[in-house]
Amino acid sequence: MLLVMKFGGTSMGSAERIRVAARISREQHQRRPVVVVVSAMSKITDLLLDSLRKAEAGDQSDLDQNLKTLYARHFECCRELLPPARQEAALAGIHGLIGEFSRIAKGCLMLNDRPPRSIDEAVAIGERLSALMMAEYLESEGVPAAAVNGADVIATDAVFGNATPLMDATRERAAKILRPLLDQNILPVMTGFNGSTLDGRPTTLGRGGSDFSASIAAAALDASELWIWTDVDGIMTGDPRLVPDARVLDAVTYNEAAELAYNGAKVLHPRTLAPLVERHIPVWSKNSFAPEKPGTRIVPKIESTRGPHAVTSMADVALVSIEPANSVLSGTKVMARALGALARANVEVLAITSSSYRQNFCFLVRQSELERVTEYLEESLSLEFAHGYLKPVSVDCHVGLIAVVGEGMRGTPGLAGRIFTAISREKINIIAIAQGSSELTIAIVVHRDGLNRAVQAIHRECGLGVAN
Ligand code: ASP
Ligand code: MG
Repeated sequence: MLLVMKFGGTSMGSAERIRVAARISREQHQRRPVVVVVSAMSKITDLLLDSLRKAEAGDQSDLDQNLKTLYARHFECCRELLPPARQEAALAGIHGLIGEFSRIAKGCLMLNDRPPRSIDEAVAIGERLSALMMAEYLESEGVPAAAVNGADVIATDAVFGNATPLMDATRERAAKILRPLLDQNILPVMTGFNGSTLDGRPTTLGRGGSDFSASIAAAALDASELWIWTDVDGIMTGDPRLVPDARVLDAVTYNEAAELAYNGAKVLHPRTLAPLVERHIPVWSKNSFAPEKPGTRIVPKIESTRGPHAVTSMADVALVSIEPANSVLSGTKVMARALGALARANVEVLAITSSSYRQNFCFLVRQSELERVTEYLEESLSLEFAHGYLKPVSVDCHVGLIAVVGEGMRGTPGLAGRIFTAISREKINIIAIAQGSSELTIAIVVHRDGLNRAVQAIHRECGLGVAN
C-alpha cells in the first residue's frame, strides 16, 4: 500500500513548483499512506558546495555573497508559498538552518580546510530547507505533515560524500522514525541525499543521491511503489537534444535502467535500483511538469522484448592507457595493481579493455576524476614508472562513450555488427568496444567529434524512434 515519492531539484525549484509537488502528494495521501522524499531546490547544492570551497580558500566576501543568495532564494520562496500566519515560524526555521550552514562554512574559513565530514553535514542543509518548506506548506493546506531529517533514518558506512546504506540498521531506524508518523496519518517529508553513520556522523550518498534515498526508504518500509518525479517524461530511447525523434519508453527493466543510468542517462541516480531488487518494488519515473503523462515503469522483468531499447552517451570522459615498455612485467599483475589504485581512489571505471598480446590495457573514467586517477596510479606504480618498465600513462580526453542497452539484445546475432557498421558508415573511428558479460549493454568508445553523430546513427539503425 505504501507509496514513496521523490521530488527532484526542479520539482522543488520555486514556490510554484512546490505547490504542484504538494498537490500531487496530497492527492496520493488521500488514497494511501505516503512518504515524500525531497531534493534541495535546484542549484542550491552547487551553491552550498561552492560556498564551502570559497570558505576554504579564505574568500570571505564571496562566501557572504553566496549566503545572501541562499537566504534570498529561500525567504522569497517561503513568502510566496505560505499564508502570512505561517511565515514567521517558517522564516525562523530557515534562518536557523542557514545559520547552521554558515557556522560550518565559517569554521572552514578559519581552518582553511574543508573536512569531508563537515561538507556532508553542511551540504545536506539544502534538503533540510526544502523539506521544511514542503512540510509547512502541506500543513497550511490541511495535510498533516512533518519534516524528517534523512540523517535520522538512513544508516550508512563512513564513506563521506559517497556513502552506502546499511539496510538492517536503516530498517530499524525507519521503523522508529517514519512508522509512527505513518500510523498517525502524518505525511513524512524526508530529506533526500543524506544519512548518518551508526555513531551518528553525517554522511551523503553522492551527487543526485535523493533518488537513492527514496529507494532506500522504500525498501526499508516495504513500500509497494516508488515514484520518482523529475522534469522529463520518463526514460527515453535517446537524449532528445541529440535525437529529435527519441521516444519515452513505457517500461524498462531494473537492469536496463541501471545500465542507462551508469552510462550517462540523467534520469536516475545509478544506485537507485539496487535496494529494490530483492523486494521487487516497481518504480515509476514521472514528470512533475506533466503529471498526467504515464511516465516510464521500471520493473524486475518484461516479457518479450526484442533488440535494443535505448542508446545513451557520455562526453566528459577520458581514456587512460597503461602499457608495459617490455615483457618483464606480468600484465595481469600491473592490471591488478592499477585497479587496486582506482578502487582506493574511489573512482568508477566506466569501461575497460585489454590486449593480451601487447599486455596493455585501457580504461575509461570521468574527466572530473582524472586528476585523482593519475595521482593514485603514479603513486602505486611509482617504481615501475621510475625504472622504465611501464611507459608513461597516456590520457586521451577527445573520446566519448556510447552505450546501447536492451534485455532483448541477449543472443541477438549480428546486432553488434549492424551497430558498428552504422557507426563506420558515418566515418567515425571506433576506439574501443566492451560488451558487458550480461549481454545487456554494448559500450563503444569513439572519437569525441563523432560522438553525437554515432548516437544518431545507432538510434536510426536500431529503429528506436519508431514505436514497436
Ligand atoms: N541535492 C543533491 C544534489 O544535487 C541531491 C539530489 O538532488 O538528488 O546532488
Ligand atoms: Mg536528480
